[in-house]
Amino acid sequence: MTTSPTALVLHGGAGVLARKSYDREIDHMRSLAERGKTQLRDGMPALDVVSDIIRALEASGLYVAGKGSSPNTEGRYELDAAIMDGPTRRAGAVAALEGFVSPIDAARMVMDETPHVLVAAEGAARLAARHGLKAVKDPDTYYKPAAVPDGRAIATGTVGCVALDTEGRLAAGTSTGGTLHKTPGRVGDCPLIGSGTWADVQVAVSCTGQGEYFIRSLAAGTVAARIRYLHESPDEAARYALKDVKRLGGDGGIIAVGADGRIAFPYNSQGMKYAAVFTDGHIEAGVTTA
Ligand code: ASP
Repeated sequence: MTTSPTALVLHGGAGVLARKSYDREIDHMRSLAERGKTQLRDGMPALDVVSDIIRALEASGLYVAGKGSSPNTEGRYELDAAIMDGPTRRAGAVAALEGFVSPIDAARMVMDETPHVLVAAEGAARLAARHGLKAVKDPDTYYKPAAVPDGRAIATGTVGCVALDTEGRLAAGTSTGGTLHKTPGRVGDCPLIGSGTWADVQVAVSCTGQGEYFIRSLAAGTVAARIRYLHESPDEAARYALKDVKRLGGDGGIIAVGADGRIAFPYNSQGMKYAAVFTDGHIEAGVTTA
């Protein structure tokens, strides 16, 4: 039996502030990368590893996703998430979901339990309740918007994960509280398949940054198309997609893993929080600064 090399990248969002220490985030992301490495080497499917790692990132409160999300202009917490399975191209996503601890679990539920890809707002919440997903009892005490030392909420900090498992399967997922002071009902790139999240048989992609630009440049889908048609590496393709985001006036970062285990985590924002497991098993975690 041949087993594929395994690899993984996770991100804790684009946008890094010079005066904030990210030691806790780096330690946390490194420990999750270790966990993902072991899970993948033990034969866990990439899809399950991606779900598990994103659930942990959401629960930590360290990023602008799950517990660390910040409220919209009306003080409500509307969260987006998506997950995609490379081999089958099945996908699930939720947009503007209120009241649930793990949006990535809700996205997975849409993928596994419904014929749909994207379910939004009230309908998504009703579906999550019907499937028994863990609810947030009191949003005002549960959410702890990730903040800089002076107490201001952080503007960006989506989380995402891409993985390649021992059977050569790729998977990608992304989860976010969205952008700071967003308008009620605003949906970013993360739950839009092909914009913020994508996986097929050649590459798995998760994006972070100002979602509007990633939607308008079809960022994740561009990475996949360049690999498919131009045979670029994940790094070349992701850098091209970021250039297009920049051309439109935005910035951010992209994580990607290819079918051969080559990984990429370029960014053109002011830094990106990330951790990576290379095919040889070595782990890198940090906060890159521009
Ligand atoms: N892409 C996310 C959004 O626009 C924000 C982020 O990456 O931090 O909702």
